[in-house]
Amino acid sequence: MSIIMGDIALLKEDITLLHKQLNNAKKNEDNILSSLVNQIYLHDVITESKQIPIENKWLLRLRKVCKSKNKKQLKQFIKQAEVHNKFTKMMIDCYYHKIDQIIRGKLYTELPEEEEITIIKDFVSKELPEYYKLFIDALAKQRLFRTKSTKYQGLRATFLNSITNNHNILVNDNMSVLFMGNVVHEFGHVIEGVSLHNNIFDKNTCSEIISCKYERKFYSFLLENQLLTDEVYTVLAQYYDNNLDYLLTLKYLSNLSPKLLEQQIKDPRYCIDRTLPYAYGMTIANYLEALRNNDLDKYNYLFKRIDTNRLQSSRNNITDIMDVLDNDIPSMIDKDINHVIECSKKAAVLKKN
Ligand SMILES: [Zn+2]
Repeated sequence: MSIIMGDIALLKEDITLLHKQLNNAKKNEDNILSSLVNQIYLHDVITESKQIPIENKWLLRLRKVCKSKNKKQLKQFIKQAEVHNKFTKMMIDCYYHKIDQIIRGKLYTELPEEEEITIIKDFVSKELPEYYKLFIDALAKQRLFRTKSTKYQGLRATFLNSITNNHNILVNDNMSVLFMGNVVHEFGHVIEGVSLHNNIFDKNTCSEIISCKYERKFYSFLLENQLLTDEVYTVLAQYYDNNLDYLLTLKYLSNLSPKLLEQQIKDPRYCIDRTLPYAYGMTIANYLEALRNNDLDKYNYLFKRIDTNRLQSSRNNITDIMDVLDNDIPSMIDKDINHVIECSKKAAVLKKN
């Protein structure tokens, strides 16, 4: 085990407490069960082992909960397939030929951890001052986990304990730009969890938009402060590339017949839970970031709408979001993508020489 950040004793305490609560629960069992399974998963990842068993009756129950959730999700996806199809077509036309021009640069900077944390603190205090105390508390609580594991390199996630309302965050990156960007992204989910007051939150589209937006804003912050500039452009180029992948998958899924769709989403590469929030999340985050530099009033209005939406039950309802967006998304993103490609090319050439 090689944990370089976070206190595993706290995670073990969480698991013991949740287990106890689950066995004595009279209500909210599904929330507690889901919290417990998440913390166990985190434990297994950071220790690279499987040590904590869970009774069969709870596993069966979990399977039932997931089945019913997936059924609901599938129904909603089919209902909105036309919207997904239209949206992905519009965006893929905008991205497709540009992404070909991306030259993949390399990341090379591993700053000392203290320095990374200082940069993130600086960002939060300037850009998200209302949440600065929350961030400092999260750090002080030793609930941000990072390991030396190569097996789970790049994995990031936030796990809420619905009993204590603590969040355990995992961000497994060696390279500083990615580590810091992902911490900021996951912190977005912590803000949401705290605002929802113990209600379990699942991956949803509005929450991904906001977290991706914080992440993109952080990259802009690094650029504005001339920190790791070349590497930031490399990450942004990669970001657009990943964004296109999610859009292509979403387009593919939205064109399948309901029967085929039901089969296909069993394949983890096509899981709706990931594809849907990221396809919209990354695209709209890119749009918002471009808008921030061009039309601040519109940016403020849209950001507020989506941020409010993510705390409501309709937060997975795409039509609700699409209604407030305009058709200027491709043109707005077009400028940003051209700039990113140009700068990432320069960065890659510079590194080569
Ligand atoms: Zn996220």
